[in-house]
Amino acid sequence: MGILLKGGIIYTGEPVSDGTQMDILIEDGMIKDQQRNINPEELGKSESEQLEIIDVSGLTIVPGLVDMHVHLREPGFEYKETIATGTKSAARGGFTSIACMPNTKPTADNSGTIEFIKQRAKEQGLVHTYPIAALTVDRVGKEIVEMDDLYSAGAVAFSDDGSWVHDSGVMRTALEYSQLFNVPVISHCEDEGLSDSGQVNEGYLASVMGLSGIPNESESIAVARDVMLSELTGAHLHIAHISTAQSVDIIRKAKDRGVPVTAEVTPHHLILTDSTIQNYNTMAKVNPPLRTEEDVKALRQGIKEGVIDCIATDHAPHSTDEKNVEFDNAPFGLVGLETAFSVSKKALVDSGVLSLSELIEKMSTNPAKLLKLPSGKLVHEAPADLTILSLDEKYTVNPGDFASLGKNSPFAGWELEGKIVATMVSGEFSYRQFGSDDHVV
Ligand SMILES: [Zn+2]
Repeated sequence: MGILLKGGIIYTGEPVSDGTQMDILIEDGMIKDQQRNINPEELGKSESEQLEIIDVSGLTIVPGLVDMHVHLREPGFEYKETIATGTKSAARGGFTSIACMPNTKPTADNSGTIEFIKQRAKEQGLVHTYPIAALTVDRVGKEIVEMDDLYSAGAVAFSDDGSWVHDSGVMRTALEYSQLFNVPVISHCEDEGLSDSGQVNEGYLASVMGLSGIPNESESIAVARDVMLSELTGAHLHIAHISTAQSVDIIRKAKDRGVPVTAEVTPHHLILTDSTIQNYNTMAKVNPPLRTEEDVKALRQGIKEGVIDCIATDHAPHSTDEKNVEFDNAPFGLVGLETAFSVSKKALVDSGVLSLSELIEKMSTNPAKLLKLPSGKLVHEAPADLTILSLDEKYTVNPGDFASLGKNSPFAGWELEGKIVATMVSGEFSYRQFGSDDHVV
């Protein structure tokens, strides 16, 4: 059965368009046609009889969002999140494709675990789920994984996310091997000698609150080394969740020299500063930590210039019990899938840094390209992965309503604008809040 979406404002992603009213015809999981007006009576008889026509006038349709940095927690930490709940959370957040990090238990450093994740996602997942494999065995930075096996099993990138590969020789070799498969190595840049047991951004507030600090250099020194190794090897390095003005500078200069480096930033680092941790709010305890106003400004400038390629959530669910403890004992991380679009829109579009079509590039087209996924654009014969938005609709964030098992959001109680009303994956709704049957999964 086909679906005809009538009267929506369409952003194509690639080619970049500024939003035009068009009808979209979807058949067999693909975009079959898009025109100013598709008249169902002019379609073939059997085609039109089997057509669901949905009036989406007043709504905005964009290429399905892509999040290349998600912690699904399964296998091993199912009390925090599962592949079923994490992908449901993704669908509610407008994401049609996600890539999940390997810091599970067992670590996704072997083809069996990669195959398990793929299989479980196929059975229970609501969005396309692409596993990222560990870069080193057990993510301890010593021995490089069997990249060949992991790539064949379906890994779309390699990363020791959560830890930095301290040994420069290991990192160099890993980058060299990665070129055989033409996939990015994603680096969590953190010199742990500098971040030590730090809890928050190093600075005035940390001192006043009596918390140990994490200096910007803990990240930027690691970024500098990895950029140099990318330059040395010619391998695609992708830097995860950058948070400092210095990192933006280093990457800008590297890109100017033609180094094949890309970078992502989270929605929370684009809008929150370390002041959010006042009152010892553990929901805002995250790694890298929330930085200063100056860093936020530099990150926004970096994304505007294209120094930062994409937005990724680093969705990191934890149980309520884990977060409801003294600040020092709470784990790092916050959930982001269900607030990512509206928070990013507030940080970047409402403040005039990006246009909506540029935001869509950062949240869909660019991450899809980085991981070589077929999505990220709404064109003829592309997969029908799309997100339908009610752009001006306001809502109040209530983590209790999240599909994610993790309720650890620093945005609880915020009034945000830009609601996800439906998410379509391969031509089928995985989340839908309108139409004949008001079907909410
Ligand atoms: Zn990380």
